[in-house]
Amino acid sequence: MTDGTADATGRSEADYYRPETVEAACRRLRDADGRVRIVAGGQTLLPLVRQGLVDADAFVDVSAVPGLSGVTVEDGRATVGATTTYAELADHGLADRVAALGEACAVVADRQVRTLGTVGGAVAHGDPTFDLLAPLRALDADVGLAGPDGRRRVPLSEFLIGHLRTDRHEGELVTDVTFDRPDPERSGSAYERHAAAGSGRATAGVAAVVTLVDGAVETARVACSAVADTPVRAHAVEGDLTGEAASAEAVAAASERAPADIDPIDDEAGSPAYKRRLVATLTERSLLSAIGRAGGSP
Ligand SMILES: Cc1cc2nc3c(=O)[nH]c(=O)nc-3n(C[C@H](O)[C@H](O)[C@H](O)COP(=O)(O)OP(=O)(O)OC[C@H]3O[C@@H](n4cnc5c(N)ncnc54)[C@H](O)[C@@H]3O)c2cc1C
Repeated sequence: MTDGTADATGRSEADYYRPETVEAACRRLRDADGRVRIVAGGQTLLPLVRQGLVDADAFVDVSAVPGLSGVTVEDGRATVGATTTYAELADHGLADRVAALGEACAVVADRQVRTLGTVGGAVAHGDPTFDLLAPLRALDADVGLAGPDGRRRVPLSEFLIGHLRTDRHEGELVTDVTFDRPDPERSGSAYERHAAAGSGRATAGVAAVVTLVDGAVETARVACSAVADTPVRAHAVEGDLTGEAASAEAVAAASERAPADIDPIDDEAGSPAYKRRLVATLTERSLLSAIGRAGGSP
């Protein structure tokens, strides 16, 4: 930690803390002076600080808290610790079983970002273009938080409340995300995204998680990233497919309804009309892969 004195430029250096338990991190968040920021992999936060877009009087680095790291699956419920990196998640057997997770981790930037960037950082930042959020929405994940009032869990759908806005309360840190692991015998998942050349970030991404019974779709969960303020579920697609034969024709027809649930903006990545078309295409591709992995033959 620094002593907070001014450097040669007259600017005060931020304090830096590296607690080793969740409780110590929460105490630091409560007691640190001024504007305190949580940092994990630093892949998003530190560039913003360097560019002067975010200010900080103190950093609480949670990356050394052992209780926040790692992936476990117990009684069919998967828990991914907040400081688990994309690379660690991709290397875990869970990402093979739930292919949408592995596919989302694989398309994130480059090796440095995947090695340092964390699941908790992706969730806490609330950027709807982040790739991992669509699979987590499709998996109906919830978010664990620890703070001054103890621990709580919130569905990811309620935690992400707007562009770069979350329901994280003052002094809270994200501890993990959890979700039911889809039945490995009857389920499949996939993540498809498109990124404009040179941008690296998703113009749109779609995750699908499908469970089959006797060749029909028992459940279909589809979530889209980068095409609304938060990652959104494609409820119209899900409703149309549920109970239908898992056929290519049914998937194609249902996918045309994906634009009904999104609200894309006009930006350098494309017009709303282009993004709606893109989402329909990505929805069809992700559903076909998910059904194939679930043992269906669309
Ligand atoms: C060059 C580059 C390319 C990228 N490309 C992609 C891409 O293609 N796809 C993609 O999805 N992402 C991309 N990213 C973003 C990357 O996924 C995120 O930077 C990363 O996941 C954030 O995790 P982090 O641990 O680095 O977070 P940090 O930068 O440490 O923190 C990010 C934010 O989350 C908060 N935070 C972090 N951990 C916690 C916690 N446990 N509890 C509460 N708040 C917390 C911080 O205070 C900060 O506000 C890219 C980033 C870079 C730099």
